[in-house]
Amino acid sequence: MLLKELEILGFKSFADKIKVSFSTSVSAVVGPNGCGKSNILDSLKWVLGEKSVKTMRGEKMEDVIFAGTSTRKPANFAQVSLTFDNRLRLLKIDTDDVKVGRRLYRDGQSQYFINDSRVALKEIEDLFRDTGIGKSSYSFMEQGRMDQILSSKPEDRRLIFEEAAGVSRFKAQREEAEKN
Ligand code: ATP
Ligand code: MG
Repeated sequence: MLLKELEILGFKSFADKIKVSFSTSVSAVVGPNGCGKSNILDSLKWVLGEKSVKTMRGEKMEDVIFAGTSTRKPANFAQVSLTFDNRLRLLKIDTDDVKVGRRLYRDGQSQYFINDSRVALKEIEDLFRDTGIGKSSYSFMEQGRMDQILSSKPEDRRLIFEEAAGVSRFKAQREEAEKN
C-alpha cells in the first residue's frame, strides 16, 4: 500500500503548510542537519497515533506545535494529514484514497479524522492494525531503530513478528472480548 501524500501545518519546524508527495514504495528523507528530516518522521508517527512525547523527542505533547521564531508567531495548533492509496482496499474503507488526520490545540484538545470526518483514536488504530502501518510498526525506520529491533528482548521481537504475520488483530479482539 502506498503513501500518497503527507500534509503538515504548524507541526514542529513546519510553520507553513507543506505537502510531501510519495511516488515510489520506498522513500528516504535527506537534507542538511537540522532541516527537519526527523520532524517529518515524527509527523508520520504522530498522525498514526503516537502518544509518547519522548519518542518524538519532546518533553510535553505541546512541543509538537510550532513554537515560533523571532519573526514568526507560535502556531495555535499542529495538524498532520496522511493520504494512502487504497485502490486495493487493504484498509477497510470503501474509498480509493484514505486520508487520516490529527490536530492538537495548545489547550491539549486532540482531534482525529478519517476522510475529513472526526473519529476516535481507536478507529485509527483499528484501521491500521495488521497492515504493517502504525506508530510502532516497521514501516518507518529511523536512526537507531534497526539496532533496537536487533537487540530487543525476545518478547519484544515477537510482537514485531506477530504484527507482520497479522495475528495482533485477533489478539486485540480477544483482549477486548475478555474485558466485556
Ligand atoms: P539531523 O540531521 O541532525 O538529524 P534533522 O533534519 O533530523 O537533523 P530535525 O530534528 O527534524 O532535524 O529538526 C530540528 C529542528 O526542528 C530544530 O531546529 C528545532 O528547533 C526545530 N523544532 C523542533 N520542534 C519545534 C517546534 N515545536 N517549533 C519550532 N521548531 C521546532
Ligand atoms: Mg534527525
